[in-house]
Amino acid sequence: MNENDYLRQIAALTGLRHYPLQGPWGRKSGSVIGARDGYVAVIGFLRSREARVVILLRFKKLEQPERVKTALNQSAAVPKKHGKLAEVGNDFLRWEWKYSFTKPKAEEVARLADALRESLKPVAQGFDGRCEHCTSASTSALTLMNGLPIFICPACQEKVHHELDQAAINYDAIVPNYPNGLALGIGAAVLGGVAWGLVAYAINRIFLYGAILIGYFVAGGVLKGTGKVTRIGQVIIPLLTVASVLFGDAIFYTLAIMKHENAPFSSKLLGAVISHLWEIESEGSGVLGIIFALVGAGYALYAARKPKFKAAFQPLGTPNA
Ligand SMILES: [Zn+2]
Repeated sequence: MNENDYLRQIAALTGLRHYPLQGPWGRKSGSVIGARDGYVAVIGFLRSREARVVILLRFKKLEQPERVKTALNQSAAVPKKHGKLAEVGNDFLRWEWKYSFTKPKAEEVARLADALRESLKPVAQGFDGRCEHCTSASTSALTLMNGLPIFICPACQEKVHHELDQAAINYDAIVPNYPNGLALGIGAAVLGGVAWGLVAYAINRIFLYGAILIGYFVAGGVLKGTGKVTRIGQVIIPLLTVASVLFGDAIFYTLAIMKHENAPFSSKLLGAVISHLWEIESEGSGVLGIIFALVGAGYALYAARKPKFKAAFQPLGTPNA
C-alpha cells in the first residue's frame, strides 16, 4: 500500500483528515491532521536513515513536560512494542514507530494514537477553541505554521509576522564586531587544535568527529564575537577550522618526536614541526587530517547559517495557496 492510501486509511480509522502535501515533515503524502477532544494530532511518515510512522500530539503548554513522559511510561494502554516516545516538549509529544519493510498495521497506528491521547489526558489539557497565543480570540480551525498545525487567530498571525520582521531588522542592524570575532575564533582554534593534538596523541589516531567538533567550536567562537552571521565570518570560520586541525597535527607530531627522542618540549621544536608540517603531513596520514579539517569546516559553515526570520501560515486543505 502506498503512503497516500495508507494515510487515507489512518484518517478513516481515527476520524481525522488526510492532507496530501501538508504537515511538518515535507513529504508528498502529507499528513493526517486534526483535533480530538482538543488535542491536535498529526500522523505521517518520516524517512531519514530509517522509515518511521510518526504520531505528534499537541496540548496546552505545560510547566513540567516530564509528567507526560511518566504518564506514558506508566500507561498500560500504550503498547510498548509499537515504537517509542522520541521527544516531549512543553506543548507536544512525538512518538516514532520504526519499521523496515512492511508498514505497521493502520488499525494499530490508529489505536496507538487513541491510547496516547487518553494517557495524556490526566496530565495535559487539550485546547479549548481559543487561540494558543492570546488565549482569548475564539479559534476553531487549525492553521499550519511552517507546517505545524496550531490554533492561532488572524491577529496573532499578524503579530508573529510583525515580530519576525522586527527581529530581522534588529539582526540586520547589528554591527559586526570583527576584532572580537577574530579573537574568539583564534582562541577557539588554538584550544581546539591543542585538544585535537592531545587526543590524537593519547589514542594514537585522528578521528573525523574531532574535526567536526572543532568546526562547530570555531564557528561558535567567531559568531559569538562578531554577533551575527556575515560573509567575512563565513570565510574566516573554515580557514580557522583548517588551521586549527593543522595546528593540532603539529602538536601531535611534536609530542610524538618528544617521546621518540626523549626530548623536552620547546617552542623551537614546535616551530620546526610547524615549518616542516607540509612535508610531514604529505608522508603520513596527514592528507586524511586535511580532508577531515575540510569536512569540519563544511560543518562549521553549516552551523554558521544565517537565522531564518520567517513564518509561513497556511490553511489546511489548500497546499498550494
Ligand atoms: Zn490570538
